[in-house]
Amino acid sequence: TGGDNAYGHDGRRSPAMVSVDCPAKTNLTLEVGPSHAKWGGRHELDTIYCALDLTDTVTACEKPAGSGFSLDLAGEHLGDLASSSSDMRRNHAVLALFAMAEEAGREPDVALTIDKRIPVGAGLAGGSADAAATILALNALWELDWPLDRLRKVAATLGADMPFCVAGGYARGTGYGEVITPILPGSDEERALRDAGYAGAVLVGAYQAQLSTPEVYAAFDAVGAGEGDRNHLQQAAISLHPRSGRAVEEALAAGASHAFVSGSGPSVVAFTPTPAIRHDVLAAWERSKAVDRIIAAQAPAVPTVSVTVAR
Ligand code: ATP
Repeated sequence: TGGDNAYGHDGRRSPAMVSVDCPAKTNLTLEVGPSHAKWGGRHELDTIYCALDLTDTVTACEKPAGSGFSLDLAGEHLGDLASSSSDMRRNHAVLALFAMAEEAGREPDVALTIDKRIPVGAGLAGGSADAAATILALNALWELDWPLDRLRKVAATLGADMPFCVAGGYARGTGYGEVITPILPGSDEERALRDAGYAGAVLVGAYQAQLSTPEVYAAFDAVGAGEGDRNHLQQAAISLHPRSGRAVEEALAAGASHAFVSGSGPSVVAFTPTPAIRHDVLAAWERSKAVDRIIAAQAPAVPTVSVTVAR
């Protein structure tokens, strides 16, 4: 494919298809501050983000000029995305395509496919991961070569978690979560996170049920943060979805070094420092049915971009 456009003006082959694997995120700490009218009522946040190698794959291919965009979704657990009422134009990947097209002054004539593995509405930022993957894919497909800062700026117009998802790893998020200070590999702060057990194998406890982030914030306004909770939204999420609380308790009792509700929930993340502990957490969750599905992953992770050139 690629036709007349297969070769750039300098004789280089142009990309025909770009695939991006984009990690889910969790929050190792999440402090919720006051809400601000200037941010549309969003709360001030101070959080440590951590990306997990539980990924969605977004593929972008050029379509003929003027033909518009298309979106195909694949995956076994599409949640509310599978319903016919879910409007394609509101999919976060499509919003990211429109934002990139506008910023680049191009038409959004692109075929997108999303292979979804990140549970939907789960506090794992699956929608943000898809938007970030789309931004990275178009940066390569359209040969824009924009630096990370510019990609993050586009991402920030779409949602609080998206600027983080563009580069993954570990990072501190402030503002409403969109102001990203990376915690780079080899830095003292990164070593401290690893030493504290926030690296390596994790088990994600996932649910059929979804929680809407605004509903969880409304519950937070009512119940506040739990005493000693590093995730201020944990108690609110548990008040709406009590099984998440049981899953956290069971993982800690089985020896997890950390276990918590991921972001706004309902999914649960457990760090399992040894194979024996991992086995015990798995066995506890399987026995009690405190979670619906168990997904194994590693932390931290970064997005990967693979480019197929035109023949
Ligand atoms: P948030 O990022 O608000 O914390 P979350 O991580 O809990 O959300 P997401 O999986 O991002 O959950 O989904 C939130 C909602 O966004 C879903 O209910 C879904 O309908 C909508 N959505 C739009 N596009 C996508 C997408 N590509 N993937 C997942 N959800 C999407």
